[in-house]
Amino acid sequence: MKLVTFSDADGRRIGVVSGEGVVDLSRADSELPRDMIGLINAWPRAHAAVERAAKRAADFPLKSVKLHAPVPRPGKIPAIGLNYADHIAESGAKTPEHQIWFCKMPSAVTGPFDPIQLPKVSTALDYEAELVVIVGRGGRHIGKAQAKDAVFGYCAGNDVTVRDWQFKTPQWMLGKSFDTHAPFGPWIVTADEAGDPHALGIRAFVNGEKRQDSNTKHLVFNVYDQIEHLSQAMTLEPGDAIFTGTPGGVGVAMKPPSWLKAGDVVRIEIDRIGAIEASVAPEGN
Ligand code: ZN
Repeated sequence: MKLVTFSDADGRRIGVVSGEGVVDLSRADSELPRDMIGLINAWPRAHAAVERAAKRAADFPLKSVKLHAPVPRPGKIPAIGLNYADHIAESGAKTPEHQIWFCKMPSAVTGPFDPIQLPKVSTALDYEAELVVIVGRGGRHIGKAQAKDAVFGYCAGNDVTVRDWQFKTPQWMLGKSFDTHAPFGPWIVTADEAGDPHALGIRAFVNGEKRQDSNTKHLVFNVYDQIEHLSQAMTLEPGDAIFTGTPGGVGVAMKPPSWLKAGDVVRIEIDRIGAIEASVAPEGN
């Protein structure tokens, strides 16, 4: 199933995609939670009702509603660095012995088709196509063999990065957390429908030009390694969004570096998951 957070004149709520449209879950079953984290928490008892709803005729065409990030405000957004061999090579780095984690702040989240801000304080704006894991049941000390059961579903994401801010200090957090720099969506594809997360083509386009073209089979630390490692330190909670790393082809590695400019259109697409697309707009406009 594909689950969305959407809004129209009646406000923001959640739905399930049916054909080219969306079934409003608040109409399909008034007992269901009205927000995505609530739904993920309720999933063991709610999923049968959502499956029934997915078979109904759509309430609205998808094109007629605004799509938000499927989890508009995740509790946390851990993100892994240097996690595809070709990206490690283009960065001039060594393959990490340990997983390198940073966080994107939840306030950086924006919708799958919303503009990305070109900051007032930098021109070094870059894209990173990434598979995003949405945590389901979560927990602590989740073994690799159990990690699959901790995943609720998957999205396409862009780990938008302000490169000079990323690298002027050892800690990357600020350069990774500018407002609007964590778009993901366009929906959550539930884990059962997504299938093997390590066999997905992943691509980024800037103004139609293909810049990244890889496959999640090339992840250095795969999704389940990541869940095992993260959960040794912290409790993973329903709706947490994990950015799983980007392949080669980012703008900073081009010679000379190619930064995103106002008016550029960045598209991220992942097989079986979907595509998000944003235009770049100066901050403050
Ligand atoms: Zn990244």
